[in-house]
Amino acid sequence: MKYDAIVVGAGFAGMYMLYRLRKAGFSARVLETADGVGGTWYWNRYPGARCDVKSIDYSFSFDDALQREWQWSEKYATQPEILRYANHVADRFDLRKDIQFETEVQAATFDEARKRWIVKTTQGETFDAQFHIFASGCLSVPKAIDIAGQKDFVGATYHTADWPREGVDFSGQRVAVIGTGSSAIQSLPIIAQQAKRLTVFQRTPAFSLPAFNQPLTDEQRAETQRTYAERRAQSRHSLFGVPNYPMEKSALEVDANERERAYEEGWQKGELVGIMQQYHDLLINNAANETASEFVRNKIRAVVKDPAVAETLCPTSFALGTKRACLDTGYYEMFNEAHVELVDLLKTPIEKITKNGVQTSDRAFEFDAIVFATGFDAMTGAIVNVDVRGVGAVQLAEKWQAGPRAYLGLATHGFPNLFMITGPGSPSVMSNMMTSIEQHAEWITDCLVYMREHGHALIEASEAAQQQWVTHVNDVANMTLFPQANSWYMGANVPGKPRLFMPYIGGCGVYRDKCDEVASHGYEGFRLSIESAQSASAG
Ligand code: FAD
Ligand code: NAP
Repeated sequence: MKYDAIVVGAGFAGMYMLYRLRKAGFSARVLETADGVGGTWYWNRYPGARCDVKSIDYSFSFDDALQREWQWSEKYATQPEILRYANHVADRFDLRKDIQFETEVQAATFDEARKRWIVKTTQGETFDAQFHIFASGCLSVPKAIDIAGQKDFVGATYHTADWPREGVDFSGQRVAVIGTGSSAIQSLPIIAQQAKRLTVFQRTPAFSLPAFNQPLTDEQRAETQRTYAERRAQSRHSLFGVPNYPMEKSALEVDANERERAYEEGWQKGELVGIMQQYHDLLINNAANETASEFVRNKIRAVVKDPAVAETLCPTSFALGTKRACLDTGYYEMFNEAHVELVDLLKTPIEKITKNGVQTSDRAFEFDAIVFATGFDAMTGAIVNVDVRGVGAVQLAEKWQAGPRAYLGLATHGFPNLFMITGPGSPSVMSNMMTSIEQHAEWITDCLVYMREHGHALIEASEAAQQQWVTHVNDVANMTLFPQANSWYMGANVPGKPRLFMPYIGGCGVYRDKCDEVASHGYEGFRLSIESAQSASAG
């Protein structure tokens, strides 16, 4: 089957990519493993799952009518509401007819003679396309569970990223949750309400901030509609894909009382950027950051009644914001309940999972259920999972063995006509992903239109431009505190994965300007060629 483009994945990125391609007159097929749209929000159905960027921002901006007709019910929408939104978008723009569900892309090979991508699926189908576009997600491949004995456990096991559709009732059960990242922190307070006994296995404590989630009022909705155009414009040119707060001062140029007042104001916003955007140097200066980190630790100490438990929950090994902070509802309060226990794996590591539970270095625990909230093979996992072969049959996974290399996070040398949405080297996971997804899908479509108008059949990132961009991405990261943390941004959560800071931290606005400049200079840094490709309409 021949198409202009094959798009891998039907999350928000794949859906919007399809919409743009179709509108520009390209034929496209979206291939998706799941049996529905929504990506992240299709898979992550654990209790308490919500967005951590305000719903009014974590939504599409490209269609004003869509933006006006969809009313979010809460400041931070739940997973079911976001999944309903994804389905609404699919229906509203009649996207399903070009999406093939229950179809997993296994291999993509660039046929040099025909200048086309041959895409094979696990189900045995073959597609033939001029362009291959990864919209396969940055957080879509759960990290392999690296704890021995998992198969020996006779009780039920769950992963937050592959949660049963029908839900799980933990009533009366002894439950273990392994991990204390965002997925755990959102689900734990709800699991605690059901479980007879809940044991939290924490290796590295996370910083979590209160969401202060609430239903949106009619007045708030009306205000959003009134200011939406301006808000969206600010987001597109912001640091993190949501409107910036002004950051005029250094945290070190004001006295402790003023800082305390500023952090409290940021805390009360119930937003990830609330505290971090009080001062301009919190992500570049350790001493400045420590003032904010200690503010949050003091908040933890004020809530958690047992001082030893409170200290165990206080992060000290990395600076606030350099691993993605979490937004919670009642997480720290939960540790005051008698049936909830915290196990510090830094003191007593897990040795193995046993038939009946978990064996740590000093204790055998018995459980009815174990929940793995152990995270993802982030940013590159879904791309290298596919056997991608470019020029000279070189494998992408092999080429990226020492870490991903991409020009603008959009394309990679040696793989012509292949694009990535929110790929490594773009703001991606450092931003409100909806802002970044829209920008990439629009840039890619404009590029394809340009190629069509100028008779170009091939586009490939040049090695020199790619090298320059990778160096720039690293240079900017090295100006910040981010590389000091063992985060999934660094690949540090997956054993054996190379450590380098994968997203671009220069800001969404700066990045957008750079992409626009590249396009306006005739796709500078890309090699465009007029060699003819077989027309998609031929078959
Ligand atoms: P995804 O939604 O991950 O979709 C990718 C799709 O590709 C999946 O459906 C997958 O099945 C499919 N796929 C992958 N490989 C293949 C293959 N080989 N063949 C066929 N199909 C394939 N970001 C924010 O900005 N704000 C938030 O509040 C936020 N909350 C999050 C909460 C959770 C629990 C998680 C895990 C992530 C969150 N993120 C958030 C990041 C989130 O992933 C993005 O916001 C966004 O949903 C990504 O959309 P996507 O379409 O790029 O990828
Ligand atoms: P994560 O942040 O990577 O957290 C995984 C947790 O599991 C960490 O605490 C980690 O500890 C622990 N862990 C991993 N392997 C372990 C092992 N072998 N033994 C013991 N502990 C282990 O993953 P996540 O919570 O799924 O979140 C990933 C990202 O998805 C987030 O950062 C965020 O971007 C997004 N997300 C967002 C929301 C939201 O609020 N909207 C919710 C969920 C996810 P170490 O740190 O010590 O490795």
